[in-house]
Amino acid sequence: MTHEAGIPLGIRFKLLSDTPQDSAAQVVHDVVVGDYRDLETLRAFARGCDVITFDHEHVPTEHLRALEADGIPVRPGPDALVHAQDKGVMRARLDALGIPCPRHRIVRDAQDVAAFAQEGAGFPVVLKTVRGGYDGKGVWVVDTVEEAEEPFRAGVPVLAEEKVDYVRELAANVVRSPHGQAVAYPVVESRQVNGVCDTVIAPAPGLDPALALEAEEMALTIAKELGVVGHLAVELFQTRDGRILVNELAMRPHNSGHWSMDGAITSQFANHVRAVLDLPLGDPRPRAPWTVMVNVLGGDFPDMYSAYLHCMARDPQLKIHMYGKDVKPGRKVGHVNIYGDDLDDVLERARHAAGYLRGTITE
Ligand code: ADP
Repeated sequence: MTHEAGIPLGIRFKLLSDTPQDSAAQVVHDVVVGDYRDLETLRAFARGCDVITFDHEHVPTEHLRALEADGIPVRPGPDALVHAQDKGVMRARLDALGIPCPRHRIVRDAQDVAAFAQEGAGFPVVLKTVRGGYDGKGVWVVDTVEEAEEPFRAGVPVLAEEKVDYVRELAANVVRSPHGQAVAYPVVESRQVNGVCDTVIAPAPGLDPALALEAEEMALTIAKELGVVGHLAVELFQTRDGRILVNELAMRPHNSGHWSMDGAITSQFANHVRAVLDLPLGDPRPRAPWTVMVNVLGGDFPDMYSAYLHCMARDPQLKIHMYGKDVKPGRKVGHVNIYGDDLDDVLERARHAAGYLRGTITE
C-alpha cells in the first residue's frame, strides 16, 4: 500500500522481503529476498538507496545505527524507532515527557509481579514482553502469581502494567516530516476482537472534542519530542473516568489509519511517503462525516475472490483492499472501507462486506 502511494509520484521502491510471496514482493519490481536481522544483508540492500523506511518495526536498532553510520538516511531513525520496538524504553520516555500511561514497571519474576500488583489495585496484571509483540502476541493478562510465571519462560525482559478499566480503544495518527511539519488525522475508535483490530471508525463517535484535541496534541508532542519521521500511530485507552492513556506506539502506516486510504483527502501511506522524502505533507482531513474500516480475516474458504461479485454488486461505494496473502484462519488478509453520512449505515455495509469476504455471512 505504501508502494501504491508512491506510484503517482513516480517513486521507485526497492524492497527487502522475507519471502518472494510477501504482499509487497508481489507488486514491487525490485525485490531482494533476505533476512532483515542480518546486518550484511541490510548493508548490501541499502547500497544505492536514497532513503530507507519500514512497514514493520522489527529491524534491530543497532543495525539501523550501522546503516546511518554508513551514510544512509533511515526514516524514522533508530533513536525514534526504538520507542516503537521496546515497550520499556517507550514507557520510560513517555513518563519523562509527562504523557499519561498505565501504571507500569519492568519486572524480573513472578514474585516481582505480585509485589507490583500489591502496590496497586492487585491482580489482574497485564504482562508484556518488551520487544517483539504484535496483535496481542506477547501480552498476558494474569490473575495469580502462578499464572505470572509463563511470560518469564522465554528469558526476555517483561513489563508489568495495571489492567486499565477502559471503555474503548482510540488511536491518534499523525505524520511528521524532517522539516518538522506535522499533520494530525482525526482520532479514531479501534475495536479489537481477540486482541486483533476488527473495526476502525473515523472519527471516534461521541468523543468529547476537548479529549480529541488532547489526544491529537499528545501524538504531535510525542512525534516532535521523539524525532519521528513518517507516520506515527499512538494507541490509546479511553478510561471510564474520561481520561486517555497511551498504550503503545507504531512508527509506520498502521491498521488504525487504513480508513484514510479512501476516507481522507491524503492517505496515511501518501503522507508517510511524503514525510520520508521530506516533501510538504497533504491534507489529512476526512472526505465525509464517517468512514468505517473493517478488517477481512481469513476464514474457512480459501477462495475469497469469488465473493467480489456479490460485494461489488451489493455496494458500488465499497472499497476493497486485499493483500494477495494466502488465506489462513484469523490472518489479516485485507480490509474494506466505506464512507458516508450515516454511521449505522456505513458500519452495517462495511461489516457485511468483510463478513461476506470471510465467509461468515453468506447472503
Ligand atoms: P501488541 O504489541 O500486541 O499490539 P498491545 O500492548 O497493544 O500489544 O496489547 C494488545 C491488547 O491488549 C490491547 O489492544 C488491549 O486490548 C490489551 N491491553 C494491553 N495493555 C493493557 C492494559 N494495560 N490494560 C488493559 N488492557 C490492555
